[in-house]
Amino acid sequence: RSDAAGVLAVIEAIQARIEAEADDLGKLDAISGDGDHGIGMTTGTRAALAAARRAVEKGCGAGTVLTRAGDAWANEAGGTSGALWGLGLRCVGTAIGDSDSVAAAAVVQGIRDATDAIMRLGGADIGDKTMLDAMQPFANALAEQVEAGTCLREAWRHAAKHSEQAAAATAALKPRKGRAKNHSEKSVGHADPGAVSFAMIVASTATTLE
Ligand code: ADP
Ligand code: MG
Ligand code: MG
Repeated sequence: RSDAAGVLAVIEAIQARIEAEADDLGKLDAISGDGDHGIGMTTGTRAALAAARRAVEKGCGAGTVLTRAGDAWANEAGGTSGALWGLGLRCVGTAIGDSDSVAAAAVVQGIRDATDAIMRLGGADIGDKTMLDAMQPFANALAEQVEAGTCLREAWRHAAKHSEQAAAATAALKPRKGRAKNHSEKSVGHADPGAVSFAMIVASTATTLE
């Protein structure tokens, strides 16, 4: 399997998981947001998958497949999460490039870059009750494991567990960014939808990595 086909398999896994969870994500977003997180993530991942398939058919390399998927996600999904996920995928695509032997270190770097870029664009800090509260623990755990010599697939699985716990722990936080901050008291006791979908996505892709 080429790395471009590997990227496509990752996006297929993401899309299937989001499709299955969309209703619950929407309900979670309705508690203190506008209820469209499931719809936005479904539209975005469908667009990303279609763009990734087109790129693979054209013979594009792994990084370009991911970059095109990110562009489609941002352009077609709308909403805050669409813009941030599109940016994140573009960062990882740029970091891994089009070589056909993507290094684990490049993936780690890409996820770090994506976290930093999302923080800059959205202006949220850790603890503001956003997707970053699931993403940064993921990025840190992945880096630590890969640097210690763990293979990417095992490191990813381990980091995804951290991310899941971190997403659940956002229930205790008060939102300070995004729409949910306007209804911050209703949000307490419920996890942030963007953090939950982030953790779902990284969990769903662990098994597709080689
Ligand atoms: P919208 O808020 O535009 O309706 P979504 O419902 O799809 O978009 O996504 C909401 C999620 O986006 C939130 O749960 C949160 O995780 C994430 N989010 C919102 N604002 C920011 C921000 N400034 N930085 C990072 N993530 C954010
Ligand atoms: Mg919303
Ligand atoms: Mg919205």
